[in-house]
Amino acid sequence: MNTLSKFPGRGGLRLVGPLALACSVLAGCSGDGSSSTSASTASGSGGDSATSASTTGAGGNAASTTSGSGTTGAATTGSSSGSTSAGTGGMPMNCSALPLCDDFEAATAGGPPSPSTWAIVSPNCGGTGTIAVDDTVAHSGTRSVKVTGKGGYCNHVFFVNTTAPAAVGKDIYGRYYLRLGGALGDAHNTLMTMKDTADNGKDLRLGGQKSVMIWNRESDDATLPELSPTGAGLSVSPTPQAWHCVEFLVKGSDGQMQTWLDSVEVAGLHEDGVPTPDIDGQWLNKAGWKPSLADLKLGWESYGNDDMTLWFDDVALGPARIGCN
Ligand code: CA
Repeated sequence: MNTLSKFPGRGGLRLVGPLALACSVLAGCSGDGSSSTSASTASGSGGDSATSASTTGAGGNAASTTSGSGTTGAATTGSSSGSTSAGTGGMPMNCSALPLCDDFEAATAGGPPSPSTWAIVSPNCGGTGTIAVDDTVAHSGTRSVKVTGKGGYCNHVFFVNTTAPAAVGKDIYGRYYLRLGGALGDAHNTLMTMKDTADNGKDLRLGGQKSVMIWNRESDDATLPELSPTGAGLSVSPTPQAWHCVEFLVKGSDGQMQTWLDSVEVAGLHEDGVPTPDIDGQWLNKAGWKPSLADLKLGWESYGNDDMTLWFDDVALGPARIGCN
């Protein structure tokens, strides 16, 4: 059997519902991911603090879309930089107690990230993508992990941790700093992917398409948000060559997900269990999805032909929101 058909991406011939079809057929769809947006984000509230907030995801989910405040326009392309970066790059106080917390300072530049925590993998097929610790660019300290990503599925490469998700439990919060060498393109790419043993081992992926960040579920190729102009407009585009704090919550208990960029919740990347057109309507077509994550893979996988250099630093997984400080 053919690996490419076995592990399809979002590009090419796969269509994702009527809105995506319309978008793929009509010229000019791709550009508008940038406009509109903001809307949602309440952040401000408990969002930023490393501690509290979390507890049971329940309250947090609903509450967080209070909108109103999100006027920062953070979501328009190229902007999102904004606030964050407390500059210091210090880790949360309790990070070292979490099942996964790595600032990569203990690794050797030019070598792999710590083999006791990570392995470098190219599932199914391997190619030209490479990963090495880099001491020229860092969010914290002097080191980060550099991914030299290449276009084409089999050139994918990831560094993977296979123990932390199970140690965290069903509902998993993640936090890492991400620096992209260039802007996300129109084609579908993945920069984080996690094996879901409750979905036949298929991956839950976070990456980009239509120039904005999207979640993608390998098993049915659903995207969050939907790839309509409105949906894409409710997501964000990380500014190239700047560090961004990515946070996510994936709840195995009920399948809900939340995502924050630089401490601001991204409305288009929020699956709250209630189908909303342009956001999670398509995602929720798959009834009863409750992911059981078996690993965390960071790297680059392109279903088109997009090269990308990217860096990761200060990677953590835990049972509560970790925060960006
Ligand atoms: Ca570091």
